[in-house]
Amino acid sequence: MMNMEIPDPFANFVARKERRSNGFIYDWFAGEWSMNCGCCGQLICAPTKKTIIRTRLYHTRNECLNGY
Ligand SMILES: [Zn+2]
Repeated sequence: MMNMEIPDPFANFVARKERRSNGFIYDWFAGEWSMNCGCCGQLICAPTKKTIIRTRLYHTRNECLNGY
């Protein structure tokens, strides 16, 4: 760690969690995963990470790319 400042540990933890999860953001307060679609920017939410991956796949295939 090169940063000598000690940030808010909660914010730091959330930021690390976000970075690790490849664009998926866990909303601790809602208890949901969320992300913005890379194509159209639509917010996608799901209760688990497994579900959000499926939801995103479904969304990109059926809603963004129309079956490509
Ligand atoms: Zn989309």
